[in-house]
Amino acid sequence: MTQPAVDGAKDWSAIDRAVYVHSSTNLQQHLVDGPMVLTRGEGVRVFDGDGKAYIEAMSGLWCAGLGFSEKRLADAAYKQMTTLPYYHNFQGKTADVTIELAERLVALAPKPLTKIMFASSGSEANDTAIKLVWYYNNARGKPAKKKIISREQAYHGVTIAAGSLTRLKAIYDGFDLPIDRIRHVGCPHHYKLAQDGESEEQFATRLADELDAKIREEGPDTVAAFIAEPIMGAGGVIVPPATYFEKIQRVLKTHDVLLICDEVITGFGRIGTMFGAEKFGIAPDIMTLGKQMTSAYAPMSAILMRESIFESIAAESGKRGTFGHGYTYSGHPVSAAVALETLRIYEERDILGHVNRITPTFQSLLESYSNHPLVGEVRGEGLLAAVQLVQSKSPKKFFDTTAGLAKYLVARGHEHGVILRVLQNDAVAFAPPLISTEDDLKQIADLFGRALDDTLKVAR
Ligand code: PLP
Repeated sequence: MTQPAVDGAKDWSAIDRAVYVHSSTNLQQHLVDGPMVLTRGEGVRVFDGDGKAYIEAMSGLWCAGLGFSEKRLADAAYKQMTTLPYYHNFQGKTADVTIELAERLVALAPKPLTKIMFASSGSEANDTAIKLVWYYNNARGKPAKKKIISREQAYHGVTIAAGSLTRLKAIYDGFDLPIDRIRHVGCPHHYKLAQDGESEEQFATRLADELDAKIREEGPDTVAAFIAEPIMGAGGVIVPPATYFEKIQRVLKTHDVLLICDEVITGFGRIGTMFGAEKFGIAPDIMTLGKQMTSAYAPMSAILMRESIFESIAAESGKRGTFGHGYTYSGHPVSAAVALETLRIYEERDILGHVNRITPTFQSLLESYSNHPLVGEVRGEGLLAAVQLVQSKSPKKFFDTTAGLAKYLVARGHEHGVILRVLQNDAVAFAPPLISTEDDLKQIADLFGRALDDTLKVAR
């Protein structure tokens, strides 16, 4: 991965190793391996300092939906920067462009959601959702109703509260997480966790029963909310089993527990609907958004809520004197302008229609690897997928996670010129830009296939 400095150019690799602490990286190993330094983007490809092209099969971190060279987004940012580059939203102030975005997003969102707040990252959005729920239950005289239930393998961010909702070892191990008031129930991964002969529907019933039992065990008066990604992303691209959300929502209603839908990955067309909520019949009380909202060209996230939640917190803030939450960059006008332009492009180019047109090609290209000796399951929806590596298909046997086989595969992928991502339990993730063409998808699948064959050689 290390690229030597060319004449006169800075040695980014040496400087990086000298001063830069990376995210989600083995920091010790990084001192040996050095960084992968990208210097330019064009369409669905990024380029390193030597001019080597990589097709981005992950849209960065599931976010650059419009690829890496959308000039209209740069122009929108420039225009806003030269008009009103910054304004905050404290004490009743705001930029006009942020109101325009708020109106647009509320119009797009599932119907029961009528009010919106902004933040800069998905983690901040989920932290905000937790604080909203707590403030709301204080407002309605239920101060003990504060626990939030998340799921094994969930990913909701890395800040102290959102990182507590996340249930992936790398995120909590060594960081003293989770904090108090956070609980977890089972992951809805049918292929891995269903019992012998258990159908998707039966598995979903078992998970809903488990949630019901958990709420009863904790005491319904102490449980405030349940949070879920419609399709789990970083936890493995786990598509929920049939009837899962229908059954889960029934349980939540029974116990007056709110549903927070984390659409940070699934929002804005990633799985073929504007939001994952539509695909799975979810009626959220709170929804969090991020990533593709600006196609990642500027940091921005959002938190939508039901009118009844807003009414309670508004009345409470009237009593207390202020709703004391918000960030310096909440509703940042440059991000808002970029988000508005992103939404215009999604609409004008019928990105949803495009995603739905190319999805069968994408999913069947990956599906064609299901006969490969290393592949146990190919799963996904829309332009979101994972290939699960297994040691043996029957009986089903997963690799020891320390084997690092998916990591090896992803590194071979980089050599072949495709950027993929390792997930939990030796799965490999795919979330190509929404603008990918069928030829781009074929190239991704082809380069992945080569990396998979390389991996087979070292697997046994
Ligand atoms: N929620 C989900 C579903 C995510 O996938 C992520 C990030 O990948 C987050 C929240 C956190 O977002 P951020 O990294 O912007 O804090």
